[in-house]
Amino acid sequence: MDACVENAAPPIFPPAPVAQQDEASRFTSPPLSGGSPAAVSAAPAAEEKRSWFPTRWLGLGKTRAAEKAPHIVHVDVDAFFASVEQVLNPKLRGKPVLVGRGVVASASYEAKFRGVKTAMSFRDALRICPKAIVVPGQYEHYADFAERVRRILEAYTPAVETAALDDFYLDFAGTERLYPDYEATLKRLQAEILGKTGLSVSVGAARTKAVASIASRLERPRGFRIVNPGEEELFLAPLPVEKLHGIGHIHAAALAERGVATIGQLRLIPKPVLIAAFGEAVGQQIWERARGLDGREVLLPSTPKSVSRETTIEGGTIDTEFLGGLLEYLSERIGGTLREYGKQACTLGVHLRYVDHFSAHQTMRLERATNDERELLAAARELFTKLFTRRVAIRHVGISVMNLEMDRRQNELFDTDANRRWYLNREVDRVRGRYGWNAVFYGKGLELREHYATKPTGLVLSTPCLSR
Ligand SMILES: [Mg+2]
Repeated sequence: MDACVENAAPPIFPPAPVAQQDEASRFTSPPLSGGSPAAVSAAPAAEEKRSWFPTRWLGLGKTRAAEKAPHIVHVDVDAFFASVEQVLNPKLRGKPVLVGRGVVASASYEAKFRGVKTAMSFRDALRICPKAIVVPGQYEHYADFAERVRRILEAYTPAVETAALDDFYLDFAGTERLYPDYEATLKRLQAEILGKTGLSVSVGAARTKAVASIASRLERPRGFRIVNPGEEELFLAPLPVEKLHGIGHIHAAALAERGVATIGQLRLIPKPVLIAAFGEAVGQQIWERARGLDGREVLLPSTPKSVSRETTIEGGTIDTEFLGGLLEYLSERIGGTLREYGKQACTLGVHLRYVDHFSAHQTMRLERATNDERELLAAARELFTKLFTRRVAIRHVGISVMNLEMDRRQNELFDTDANRRWYLNREVDRVRGRYGWNAVFYGKGLELREHYATKPTGLVLSTPCLSR
């Protein structure tokens, strides 16, 4: 399975500056009790001098170019799971499709237009839309399609953050010379994703993440909206408050009771009132978002500290041939991922779990750092033989690599065999990148394909993996 365990960096959110607290307390403490009107009037002047002046730390004052351009782009795949099912199965195209088990995880636009909503129970959804086709969903496809979308986006800018599986933020700051016609570039990006993956995406561009994500979601499917700097408040004003991130149904209902339906109306509420109603953090956030302010930056993908691939075998097995095939497949997947990151692993671990829940795990230091699946597989086999000592069926196999270092191709310099494999791996990666995972596979992979469904994107193993 494709569980890539990465040490994701914590979100970079600027620490709440002191000015924020000053300002908040300025409102929360009534002037009557505080008795310090001087402090109130002095505050704005003090703020100007400090480097964390709100507009600056909210991401609005970075550079002049960034200030002028709606450089943050939100790209969201429309009805992701359902759309992937429609791409894979032409019979589903143009028909209402529901993906999920018991609850709608994703509904195609044909179903959405009839009123089906995400998170609805199937019973309700099928009452509204009795002709809907229900599919359980296969996570492997979704992960692979998301990966293909991400790769297309990365060809436009290296600053691509995967916010959710099908939901990306891009930062185009500094690309003005590369893309003189920004709008045409974003349209091209949208068309390229549709052309190459069959998935339609909605695109929104603005100065902040908060506004970009609202812009992309406004006219789905195939939404396209650029909110130019300075137009944020105008753009947000007529929209219902629910569009703001952080305002759920309960908050929206509470606001509606007070006659606040649009973001424009919400903006009229003073911050201390919002904080009193929703608490310090939420109130503050709502106040900022209503003004299109958002200090979150596009996070660059963090390099992984380890990579692991694992799978569960339904019912368990003692078939060593089959398990050997799985080890091979998992090693291939790890090798491919390491090469993609330009990394080599120094340590490899194998994890087994038997049907009686007994588990065994061992790691070993590799002879030399590598990202070649043949070498990874040799080590994995060695550990597997050591660990598989009981005559009990195995339910779960996992391989992980850690102690990653940069791939400098040191090994290949004097080793012709390793050199050959380096070129072979490069070509295999290239072919797979273009024609899908199954275009090339090694000997044992053939056997594995008798057990598992082959899809253009790889094998469909049985562990649904929801980690990115
Ligand atoms: Mg989506």
